[in-house]
Amino acid sequence: MKVLVINCGSSSLKYQVIDSDSEQVLAKGLCERIGIDGRLVYQKAGLDKEITDAPMPTHKEAVQMVLDALVNEKTGALSDLSEIGAVGHRVVHGGEKFTTSTLITEDMIKAVEECNDLAPLHNPANIIGIRACQALMPNVPMVGVFDTAFHQTMPKKAYMYGVPYECYENYKVRKYGFHGTSHSFVSKRVAEVNGTPYDATKTIVCHLGNGASICAVENGKSVDTSMGLSPLEGLIMGTRSGDIDPSAVEFIAKKENLDMAGAMNLLNKKSGVEGISGVSSDFRDLIKAKEEGNERAALALDMFSYRVAKYVGSYITAMNGVDVIAFTAGIGENTPTVRKAVCDYLGYMGVEIDDQINDAVHGDEKLISTPASKVKVYVIPTNEELAIARETVALV
Ligand code: ADP
Repeated sequence: MKVLVINCGSSSLKYQVIDSDSEQVLAKGLCERIGIDGRLVYQKAGLDKEITDAPMPTHKEAVQMVLDALVNEKTGALSDLSEIGAVGHRVVHGGEKFTTSTLITEDMIKAVEECNDLAPLHNPANIIGIRACQALMPNVPMVGVFDTAFHQTMPKKAYMYGVPYECYENYKVRKYGFHGTSHSFVSKRVAEVNGTPYDATKTIVCHLGNGASICAVENGKSVDTSMGLSPLEGLIMGTRSGDIDPSAVEFIAKKENLDMAGAMNLLNKKSGVEGISGVSSDFRDLIKAKEEGNERAALALDMFSYRVAKYVGSYITAMNGVDVIAFTAGIGENTPTVRKAVCDYLGYMGVEIDDQINDAVHGDEKLISTPASKVKVYVIPTNEELAIARETVALV
Protein backbone atom coordinates (compact mmCIF):
# COMPACT_ATOMS: atom_id res chain seq x y z
CA MET A 1 0.00 0.00 0.00
CA LYS A 2 1.13 3.56 -0.67
CA VAL A 3 0.77 5.80 2.37
CA LEU A 4 0.82 9.58 2.41
CA VAL A 5 2.36 10.77 5.68
CA ILE A 6 1.49 14.33 6.72
CA ASN A 7 3.11 16.42 9.45
CA CYS A 8 1.21 19.68 9.51
CA GLY A 9 2.30 22.85 11.30
CA SER A 10 0.63 26.24 11.46
CA SER A 11 2.33 27.54 8.30
CA SER A 12 4.07 24.46 6.97
CA LEU A 13 3.26 20.93 5.92
CA LYS A 14 5.82 18.15 5.54
CA TYR A 15 4.89 15.08 3.55
CA GLN A 16 6.22 11.75 2.34
CA VAL A 17 4.75 8.99 0.22
CA ILE A 18 5.95 5.63 1.46
CA ASP A 19 5.41 2.25 -0.16
CA SER A 20 4.58 0.16 2.86
CA ASP A 21 5.63 -3.11 1.21
CA SER A 22 9.16 -2.05 0.31
CA GLU A 23 9.23 0.70 3.00
CA GLN A 24 10.81 2.96 0.38
CA VAL A 25 10.13 6.69 0.19
CA LEU A 26 8.63 7.38 -3.26
CA ALA A 27 8.47 11.17 -2.88
CA LYS A 28 8.83 13.74 -0.14
CA GLY A 29 8.90 17.45 0.49
CA LEU A 30 7.19 20.30 2.23
CA CYS A 31 4.93 23.28 1.79
CA GLU A 32 6.20 26.44 3.46
CA ARG A 33 4.81 29.88 4.13
CA ILE A 34 1.18 28.73 3.95
CA GLY A 35 -1.09 31.74 4.44
CA ILE A 36 1.81 34.10 3.69
CA ASP A 37 2.75 33.47 0.06
CA GLY A 38 3.52 29.80 -0.45
CA ARG A 39 6.31 27.51 -1.60
CA LEU A 40 6.21 23.84 -2.55
CA VAL A 41 9.32 21.69 -2.26
CA TYR A 42 8.89 18.35 -4.01
CA GLN A 43 11.35 15.57 -4.56
CA LYS A 44 10.70 12.29 -6.30
CA ALA A 45 13.07 9.53 -5.13
CA GLY A 46 16.23 9.62 -7.22
CA LEU A 47 15.55 13.06 -8.71
CA ASP A 48 16.55 16.58 -7.72
CA LYS A 49 14.38 18.79 -5.52
CA GLU A 50 11.87 21.00 -7.35
CA ILE A 51 10.90 24.30 -5.75
CA THR A 52 7.73 26.08 -6.87
CA ASP A 53 6.53 29.40 -5.50
CA ALA A 54 2.74 29.54 -5.69
CA PRO A 55 -0.01 31.07 -3.57
CA MET A 56 -1.22 28.87 -0.70
CA PRO A 57 -3.81 30.91 1.19
CA THR A 58 -4.77 27.85 3.28
CA HIS A 59 -3.60 24.28 3.94
CA LYS A 60 -6.19 23.03 1.44
CA GLU A 61 -4.34 24.67 -1.46
CA ALA A 62 -1.09 23.31 -0.05
CA VAL A 63 -2.42 19.73 0.03
CA GLN A 64 -3.84 20.21 -3.48
CA MET A 65 -0.40 21.27 -4.73
CA VAL A 66 1.20 18.23 -3.14
CA LEU A 67 -1.37 15.94 -4.77
CA ASP A 68 -0.87 17.64 -8.15
CA ALA A 69 2.91 17.22 -7.84
CA LEU A 70 2.49 13.55 -6.93
CA VAL A 71 0.64 12.82 -10.20
CA ASN A 72 2.59 15.25 -12.40
CA GLU A 73 3.21 13.58 -15.78
CA LYS A 74 6.96 14.12 -15.76
CA THR A 75 8.08 13.86 -12.15
CA GLY A 76 5.07 12.42 -10.31
CA ALA A 77 5.67 9.43 -8.06
CA LEU A 78 2.15 8.12 -8.67
CA SER A 79 0.19 7.56 -11.86
CA ASP A 80 -3.12 8.19 -10.14
CA LEU A 81 -4.19 9.50 -6.72
CA SER A 82 -6.26 6.36 -6.20
CA GLU A 83 -2.93 4.64 -5.50
CA ILE A 84 -2.86 6.36 -2.09
CA GLY A 85 -4.35 3.69 0.17
CA ALA A 86 -4.21 5.66 3.42
CA VAL A 87 -3.03 8.90 5.00
CA GLY A 88 -1.13 8.97 8.29
CA HIS A 89 -1.21 12.25 10.22
CA ARG A 90 1.21 13.20 12.95
CA VAL A 91 -0.77 14.62 15.88
CA VAL A 92 1.24 16.22 18.65
CA HIS A 93 -0.93 15.94 21.76
CA GLY A 94 -3.39 13.18 22.55
CA GLY A 95 -3.65 14.03 26.25
CA GLU A 96 -4.85 11.04 28.27
CA LYS A 97 -7.45 10.21 25.65
CA PHE A 98 -5.17 8.51 23.13
CA THR A 99 -2.96 5.65 24.18
CA THR A 100 -2.41 4.36 20.63
CA SER A 101 -2.70 5.51 17.03
CA THR A 102 -6.33 5.91 16.05
CA LEU A 103 -8.46 5.80 12.91
CA ILE A 104 -9.68 9.32 12.13
CA THR A 105 -13.43 9.84 12.56
CA GLU A 106 -15.53 12.86 13.56
CA ASP A 107 -15.54 11.63 17.17
CA MET A 108 -11.78 11.21 17.10
CA ILE A 109 -11.28 14.76 15.78
CA LYS A 110 -13.55 16.07 18.52
CA ALA A 111 -11.44 14.28 21.12
CA VAL A 112 -8.24 15.76 19.61
CA GLU A 113 -9.85 19.22 19.76
CA GLU A 114 -10.49 18.64 23.46
CA CYS A 115 -6.68 18.33 23.86
CA ASN A 116 -6.06 21.63 22.03
CA ASP A 117 -5.41 23.67 25.14
CA LEU A 118 -2.56 21.28 26.03
CA ALA A 119 -0.85 22.04 22.68
CA PRO A 120 -2.36 25.29 21.44
CA LEU A 121 0.26 25.81 18.73
CA HIS A 122 0.35 22.28 17.37
CA ASN A 123 -2.97 20.44 17.65
CA PRO A 124 -5.12 23.01 15.80
CA ALA A 125 -2.58 22.93 12.92
CA ASN A 126 -2.66 19.13 12.89
CA ILE A 127 -6.47 19.21 12.64
CA ILE A 128 -6.33 21.75 9.81
CA GLY A 129 -4.09 19.30 7.93
CA ILE A 130 -6.53 16.45 8.57
CA ARG A 131 -9.48 18.53 7.36
CA ALA A 132 -7.62 19.65 4.22
CA CYS A 133 -6.81 16.03 3.32
CA GLN A 134 -10.36 14.89 4.07
CA ALA A 135 -11.75 17.57 1.74
CA LEU A 136 -9.54 16.43 -1.13
CA MET A 137 -9.49 12.67 -0.46
CA PRO A 138 -12.89 11.99 1.13
CA ASN A 139 -12.79 8.23 0.69
CA VAL A 140 -9.26 7.52 1.82
CA PRO A 141 -8.90 6.11 5.36
CA MET A 142 -6.79 8.28 7.67
CA VAL A 143 -5.00 7.61 10.92
CA GLY A 144 -3.75 9.94 13.66
CA VAL A 145 -0.39 9.01 15.19
CA PHE A 146 0.28 10.83 18.46
CA ASP A 147 3.62 12.07 19.84
CA THR A 148 2.30 11.45 23.34
CA ALA A 149 0.63 8.03 22.97
CA PHE A 150 3.71 5.86 23.60
CA HIS A 151 4.24 7.48 27.00
CA GLN A 152 0.76 6.73 28.29
CA THR A 153 2.20 3.61 29.96
CA MET A 154 4.18 5.75 32.45
CA PRO A 155 3.28 4.99 36.07
CA LYS A 156 1.54 7.73 38.00
CA LYS A 157 4.58 8.30 40.23
CA ALA A 158 6.51 9.27 37.08
CA TYR A 159 3.95 11.51 35.41
CA MET A 160 2.53 13.47 38.33
CA TYR A 161 3.99 16.86 39.28
CA GLY A 162 4.42 17.87 42.89
CA VAL A 163 1.62 20.43 42.75
CA PRO A 164 -1.88 20.32 44.30
CA TYR A 165 -3.64 17.15 43.15
CA GLU A 166 -6.59 19.28 42.00
CA CYS A 167 -4.40 20.68 39.20
CA TYR A 168 -4.32 17.16 37.78
CA GLU A 169 -7.98 16.42 38.52
CA ASN A 170 -9.31 19.70 37.18
CA TYR A 171 -6.91 20.52 34.36
CA LYS A 172 -5.00 17.30 33.62
CA VAL A 173 -1.70 18.99 34.48
CA ARG A 174 0.89 16.17 34.34
CA LYS A 175 3.86 14.93 32.36
CA TYR A 176 2.82 13.61 28.93
CA GLY A 177 6.12 13.36 27.03
CA PHE A 178 6.72 13.74 23.29
CA HIS A 179 8.76 12.16 20.48
CA GLY A 180 6.82 8.97 21.33
CA THR A 181 6.83 7.77 17.72
CA SER A 182 10.63 8.02 17.65
CA HIS A 183 11.18 6.47 21.09
CA SER A 184 8.93 3.57 20.15
CA PHE A 185 10.56 3.07 16.72
CA VAL A 186 14.11 3.23 18.07
CA SER A 187 13.51 1.02 21.12
CA LYS A 188 11.88 -1.64 18.92
CA ARG A 189 14.80 -1.48 16.51
CA VAL A 190 17.23 -1.82 19.42
CA ALA A 191 15.61 -5.11 20.42
CA GLU A 192 15.82 -6.34 16.82
CA VAL A 193 19.47 -5.50 16.25
CA ASN A 194 20.45 -6.56 19.76
CA GLY A 195 18.63 -9.87 19.38
CA THR A 196 16.71 -9.48 22.65
CA PRO A 197 12.93 -9.73 23.13
CA TYR A 198 11.31 -6.27 23.14
CA ASP A 199 9.31 -7.16 26.22
CA ALA A 200 12.42 -8.11 28.17
CA THR A 201 14.87 -5.29 27.40
CA LYS A 202 15.67 -2.16 29.38
CA THR A 203 16.52 0.60 26.91
CA ILE A 204 17.26 4.29 27.29
CA VAL A 205 16.63 6.21 24.08
CA CYS A 206 18.34 9.59 23.72
CA HIS A 207 16.46 11.46 20.97
CA LEU A 208 18.82 14.40 20.53
CA GLY A 209 17.62 16.78 17.85
CA ASN A 210 16.79 20.44 17.90
CA GLY A 211 14.02 19.31 20.23
CA ALA A 212 15.49 16.65 22.50
CA SER A 213 14.13 14.10 24.95
CA ILE A 214 15.13 10.90 26.70
CA CYS A 215 12.92 7.92 27.37
CA ALA A 216 13.25 4.94 29.68
CA VAL A 217 11.70 1.96 27.91
CA GLU A 218 11.29 -1.03 30.20
CA ASN A 219 10.04 -4.26 28.64
CA GLY A 220 8.61 -2.41 25.64
CA LYS A 221 6.86 0.29 27.68
CA SER A 222 7.75 3.91 28.29
CA VAL A 223 8.16 4.25 32.06
CA ASP A 224 9.57 7.78 32.15
CA THR A 225 10.55 10.54 29.76
CA SER A 226 12.17 13.94 30.05
CA MET A 227 9.63 16.19 28.29
CA GLY A 228 6.55 17.09 30.30
CA LEU A 229 3.18 18.75 29.90
CA SER A 230 4.88 20.51 27.00
CA PRO A 231 8.16 19.90 25.14
CA LEU A 232 9.89 22.55 27.28
CA GLU A 233 10.82 20.29 30.19
CA GLY A 234 13.94 18.19 30.47
CA LEU A 235 17.08 18.51 28.39
CA ILE A 236 18.73 21.73 27.29
CA MET A 237 17.69 21.95 23.64
CA GLY A 238 18.46 24.07 20.57
CA THR A 239 16.54 27.09 21.87
CA ARG A 240 14.57 25.63 24.84
CA SER A 241 15.85 25.87 28.38
CA GLY A 242 14.71 22.47 29.62
CA ASP A 243 14.50 22.09 33.42
CA ILE A 244 14.74 25.34 35.36
CA ASP A 245 13.71 26.60 38.78
CA PRO A 246 10.30 28.28 38.20
CA SER A 247 11.42 31.04 40.57
CA ALA A 248 14.17 31.95 38.12
CA VAL A 249 11.47 32.51 35.51
CA GLU A 250 9.58 34.90 37.77
CA PHE A 251 12.86 36.66 38.61
CA ILE A 252 13.86 37.12 34.95
CA ALA A 253 10.33 38.23 34.00
CA LYS A 254 10.38 40.96 36.67
CA LYS A 255 13.85 42.16 35.70
CA GLU A 256 13.09 42.15 31.97
CA ASN A 257 9.53 43.39 32.37
CA LEU A 258 8.06 40.39 30.59
CA ASP A 259 4.51 39.10 30.81
CA MET A 260 3.81 35.34 30.89
CA ALA A 261 3.87 35.05 27.09
CA GLY A 262 7.15 36.95 26.97
CA ALA A 263 8.70 34.72 29.61
CA MET A 264 7.56 31.57 27.79
CA ASN A 265 8.97 32.95 24.55
CA LEU A 266 12.33 33.50 26.28
CA LEU A 267 12.34 29.92 27.58
CA ASN A 268 11.20 28.33 24.30
CA LYS A 269 12.88 30.43 21.64
CA LYS A 270 15.81 32.30 23.14
CA SER A 271 17.32 29.82 25.56
CA GLY A 272 19.00 26.44 25.18
CA VAL A 273 22.42 26.08 23.56
CA GLU A 274 21.67 29.10 21.36
CA GLY A 275 20.91 31.33 24.32
CA ILE A 276 23.92 30.11 26.28
CA SER A 277 26.44 30.31 23.44
CA GLY A 278 25.09 33.35 21.64
CA VAL A 279 26.30 31.50 18.54
CA SER A 280 23.66 29.13 17.17
CA SER A 281 21.24 26.32 17.99
CA ASP A 282 22.98 24.11 15.43
CA PHE A 283 25.59 21.75 16.83
CA ARG A 284 27.72 22.01 13.71
CA ASP A 285 28.11 25.76 14.36
CA LEU A 286 28.73 25.20 18.07
CA ILE A 287 31.46 22.62 17.48
CA LYS A 288 33.16 24.90 14.95
CA ALA A 289 32.96 27.87 17.35
CA LYS A 290 34.38 25.76 20.18
CA GLU A 291 37.27 24.69 17.95
CA GLU A 292 37.92 28.37 17.26
CA GLY A 293 38.15 29.01 20.98
CA ASN A 294 34.65 30.29 21.75
CA GLU A 295 34.21 29.59 25.47
CA ARG A 296 30.46 30.03 25.60
CA ALA A 297 30.00 27.57 22.74
CA ALA A 298 32.19 25.12 24.68
CA LEU A 299 30.08 25.74 27.80
CA ALA A 300 26.82 25.15 25.91
CA LEU A 301 28.14 21.83 24.59
CA ASP A 302 29.32 20.79 28.07
CA MET A 303 25.98 21.72 29.63
CA PHE A 304 24.06 19.81 26.95
CA SER A 305 25.99 16.54 27.44
CA TYR A 306 26.00 16.88 31.24
CA ARG A 307 22.19 17.21 31.32
CA VAL A 308 21.80 14.20 28.97
CA ALA A 309 24.10 12.11 31.18
CA LYS A 310 22.20 13.10 34.34
CA TYR A 311 18.89 12.00 32.78
CA VAL A 312 20.40 8.72 31.59
CA GLY A 313 21.73 8.12 35.09
CA SER A 314 18.36 8.81 36.68
CA TYR A 315 16.59 6.46 34.25
CA ILE A 316 19.07 3.67 35.02
CA THR A 317 17.93 4.12 38.61
CA ALA A 318 14.25 4.28 37.60
CA MET A 319 14.56 0.92 35.80
CA ASN A 320 17.04 -0.56 38.26
CA GLY A 321 19.44 -1.21 35.40
CA VAL A 322 19.81 -0.80 31.66
CA ASP A 323 20.71 -3.14 28.80
CA VAL A 324 21.06 -0.67 25.94
CA ILE A 325 21.56 3.07 25.52
CA ALA A 326 20.59 4.30 22.05
CA PHE A 327 21.41 7.65 20.44
CA THR A 328 19.17 9.01 17.70
CA ALA A 329 18.00 12.15 15.80
CA GLY A 330 20.19 14.89 14.25
CA ILE A 331 22.68 15.29 17.10
CA GLY A 332 22.48 11.72 18.42
CA GLU A 333 23.18 10.28 14.98
CA ASN A 334 25.80 12.77 13.82
CA THR A 335 27.79 14.09 16.75
CA PRO A 336 30.41 11.65 18.10
CA THR A 337 31.73 14.18 20.65
CA VAL A 338 28.34 14.39 22.39
CA ARG A 339 27.97 10.59 22.49
CA LYS A 340 31.48 10.29 23.88
CA ALA A 341 30.94 12.98 26.52
CA VAL A 342 27.69 11.37 27.71
CA CYS A 343 29.16 7.87 27.86
CA ASP A 344 32.25 9.07 29.74
CA TYR A 345 30.00 10.17 32.62
CA LEU A 346 28.66 6.60 32.75
CA GLY A 347 32.08 4.96 32.89
CA TYR A 348 31.61 4.21 36.61
CA MET A 349 29.01 1.60 35.74
CA GLY A 350 31.00 -0.04 32.99
CA VAL A 351 29.79 1.86 29.92
CA GLU A 352 32.65 1.93 27.44
CA ILE A 353 32.54 3.01 23.83
CA ASP A 354 35.01 2.29 21.05
CA ASP A 355 36.31 5.75 20.15
CA GLN A 356 37.38 4.76 16.67
CA ILE A 357 33.99 3.29 15.80
CA ASN A 358 32.13 6.15 17.50
CA ASP A 359 34.09 8.79 15.59
CA ALA A 360 33.20 7.17 12.27
CA VAL A 361 29.43 6.95 12.81
CA HIS A 362 27.40 9.68 11.14
CA GLY A 363 23.81 8.67 10.64
CA ASP A 364 24.41 4.90 10.39
CA GLU A 365 23.00 2.14 12.53
CA LYS A 366 25.92 0.88 14.58
CA LEU A 367 27.00 -0.68 17.87
CA ILE A 368 29.53 1.78 19.30
CA SER A 369 30.29 0.14 22.67
CA THR A 370 33.30 -2.14 23.17
CA PRO A 371 32.83 -5.90 23.69
CA ALA A 372 33.80 -5.37 27.34
CA SER A 373 31.17 -2.67 27.96
CA LYS A 374 28.57 -3.72 30.56
CA VAL A 375 25.90 -1.81 28.63
CA LYS A 376 25.51 -1.86 24.88
CA VAL A 377 25.48 1.53 23.20
CA TYR A 378 23.96 1.90 19.74
CA VAL A 379 23.40 4.65 17.22
CA ILE A 380 19.98 3.99 15.66
CA PRO A 381 18.71 6.44 13.03
CA THR A 382 15.13 7.37 13.76
CA ASN A 383 12.47 7.44 11.07
CA GLU A 384 9.26 8.98 12.35
CA GLU A 385 7.60 9.03 8.92
CA LEU A 386 8.17 5.31 8.42
CA ALA A 387 6.85 4.67 11.93
CA ILE A 388 3.71 6.68 11.10
CA ALA A 389 3.29 4.77 7.82
CA ARG A 390 3.59 1.42 9.65
CA GLU A 391 1.05 2.44 12.29
CA THR A 392 -1.30 3.67 9.56
CA VAL A 393 -1.14 0.45 7.57
CA ALA A 394 -1.65 -1.61 10.72
CA LEU A 395 -4.90 0.25 11.45
CA VAL A 396 -6.45 0.41 7.99
P1 ADP B 1 14.41 18.45 14.73
O1 ADP B 1 13.73 17.29 14.02
O2 ADP B 1 14.03 18.59 16.17
O3 ADP B 1 14.39 19.73 13.98
P2 ADP B 1 16.86 17.06 14.04
O4 ADP B 1 16.71 15.69 14.57
O5 ADP B 1 16.77 17.26 12.57
O6 ADP B 1 15.95 18.08 14.83
O7 ADP B 1 18.30 17.60 14.55
C1 ADP B 1 18.73 18.86 14.17
C2 ADP B 1 20.07 19.13 14.81
O8 ADP B 1 20.97 18.04 14.55
C3 ADP B 1 20.73 20.33 14.20
O9 ADP B 1 20.39 21.49 14.93
C4 ADP B 1 22.18 20.03 14.36
O10 ADP B 1 22.61 20.60 15.56
C5 ADP B 1 22.29 18.53 14.47
N1 ADP B 1 22.96 17.93 13.31
C6 ADP B 1 22.40 17.53 12.16
N2 ADP B 1 23.35 17.05 11.33
C7 ADP B 1 24.52 17.17 11.98
C8 ADP B 1 25.86 16.86 11.67
N3 ADP B 1 26.18 16.33 10.51
N4 ADP B 1 26.81 17.10 12.61
C9 ADP B 1 26.48 17.63 13.81
N5 ADP B 1 25.22 17.95 14.16
C10 ADP B 1 24.26 17.72 13.27
